[in-house]
Amino acid sequence: MLTRQSIADGLRALGLASGDRVLVHSSIAALGTIEGGPDAVIDALLDVAGPEGLVAVPTFVCSPPFDRKTSRTALGAIADTFWRRAEALRSLHPTHSLAAIGRGAEELMHGHEKAPTAYGEGTPYHTLAMNGGKVLLMGVDQDRNTTLHTAEALVNAPYLGTVEAAYVDDSGETVTLTVPLMAGPHRDFIGLDRAFRESGLMRVGKIGSAVCRLMDGRRMIEVAVEKLRQDPAAVLCDNPACGDCRKQRGQIKAARLAAEGFTLSALAEDIADDPERAAAILSDEGIRDVEISGEAFIRRRGSFEKAGLRIAAIRDTLANAEAVEAARKAGIPLIAAVSTEDEFRAAAVAAAQGTPVLVENCGAPSGMYEEWYANEPAAPGLAFNPGAFAEEGENPFLKVFYRGLLRKKLRHFYVDDRTSDGTPALPGRGNGEVKEILSMLRCRSYGGVVTLRAPQAGPEAFRETAAAFWKLLDEM
Ligand SMILES: [Zn+2]
Repeated sequence: MLTRQSIADGLRALGLASGDRVLVHSSIAALGTIEGGPDAVIDALLDVAGPEGLVAVPTFVCSPPFDRKTSRTALGAIADTFWRRAEALRSLHPTHSLAAIGRGAEELMHGHEKAPTAYGEGTPYHTLAMNGGKVLLMGVDQDRNTTLHTAEALVNAPYLGTVEAAYVDDSGETVTLTVPLMAGPHRDFIGLDRAFRESGLMRVGKIGSAVCRLMDGRRMIEVAVEKLRQDPAAVLCDNPACGDCRKQRGQIKAARLAAEGFTLSALAEDIADDPERAAAILSDEGIRDVEISGEAFIRRRGSFEKAGLRIAAIRDTLANAEAVEAARKAGIPLIAAVSTEDEFRAAAVAAAQGTPVLVENCGAPSGMYEEWYANEPAAPGLAFNPGAFAEEGENPFLKVFYRGLLRKKLRHFYVDDRTSDGTPALPGRGNGEVKEILSMLRCRSYGGVVTLRAPQAGPEAFRETAAAFWKLLDEM
C-alpha cells in the first residue's frame, strides 16, 4: 500500500525536487491502493515541492458554465480534491482552468481567462513551462498532457478551431468567451513520447503501479513545436477510420492550398454520384472546387453547391448546346475535349459568342494545336492535359511546354498522368511529366485551376491520386 511518504520518495527518485514548479496529470486508479487516498498524493507532491515550490493541476469541467467555486472536474479524484483545498487558487478560464498551490500561485492563475487562447502564450500552461516548470504524468499518457496543446497553439495549427464557453465570475455574473485555437476531439500525442524519451528531457519511473513521466516543460514544448513545424500533422493519428483526424488533415491541406496561387479541383462525378459523399471525400484533401458535366450542372447544380462545393468548370462537348448556353449564362468555363480542327473552330465560335470556353488537348499531337492556334489567334485558352500528349508519344514538359506556344495558351492544368502507351497512371508515375510542369507553373505564380484526374473512377482511386499529388507537392 502506498503512503504519503512512499509517494514522496517515489517523486524524489523520479527527479522532482524541493523548489520545483510542476503541473500534474494523474490517475489515482493507476497508482494502486493509497493510505489516505487522493489527499496523500497531494500532500506528497506539496512535501516534495516544498514551500518554495508550486504544484498545479488542470481542473477542466465537462458541463458549462464553469464556476470555479463549485464546478467538479472530470480529470480524476486527485484533481477534484486538489482544487477544493482552502489554499488552492483556481483560474477562471471556462475551458481549461487549473488550480495551483504554492509560491507564485496567485500570479500564475491571475488573468488566465483574459489570455488570447486557453493554453498558448500568456496562459499558466505556457508561463509555467517556459519558466523552468515541469510536467508530471502519474499513471496517464501523453494524450492527457495539456501543455502539448500549447505547442499546437504556438504554431497556430490550421486545424484548431474556435469555441464559445461561459464561466461564472466572482460576482456571480455569467461571462461568455470566444476561445480561438482550440484543439479538436482527437490527437495522437502518444506518438511524441518516444521523441521526449530520446531527447533526454523526460524521466520515466514507477510509483506504486503507475508509470510516471517527469518532463522539462520548456524542452518538451520545443521538441513538440519542432515536430509540428516539420509536419503539421505530427500529432494527428493516421487511422483512416478516425473521422476527426481525417478532417483535421483536410484542414491542414486546405490551409496549404490557400497559400498556393492555384486552385486545386477534381472531377466530382468521378469520385461519387452523390454530391455530399464527393464533398466529404474532397474535404479530406482540402478541396472545395470541382468540375462537373453539363448535365449535372443543369439538373443538379444546387445539390453540389449545397454540399459546399464550388463549380470551377463544366466539362462537356460543344455539341451540347444546352450546356454551352448554361456555361455562358453562369460565366463558368466550359472545357471541351478537342481533337480535330472542326472542333477547335467550334470552340472559337462559341467563345466569340460569349461562352467562356477552354480547349482540352485530347487525341492529337501538340503540333496540330500549335497550327490551329496559329490560324485562330483569338481561339480559347488551353486546358493543358499532359497525359494526352504523353499518349501521343510526346514529352509534355521537355518538348510541348518548353517550346512555349501552348504554354502561352495554358489557362487550366490537368494533373492527368499516363504512360506513353496510354495507360492511366497516378500523378508522377507516368510519362506526363506532371511534376515538372506543376513546378514550373508554381514558379510563375500560376493562378488558374489545377484539376486532379484519377486513373479510374471511384473514391479509392481518387484518394490514391490525391495522396500521390500531395507527395509531389511535398517534394517540391
Ligand atoms: Zn485520430
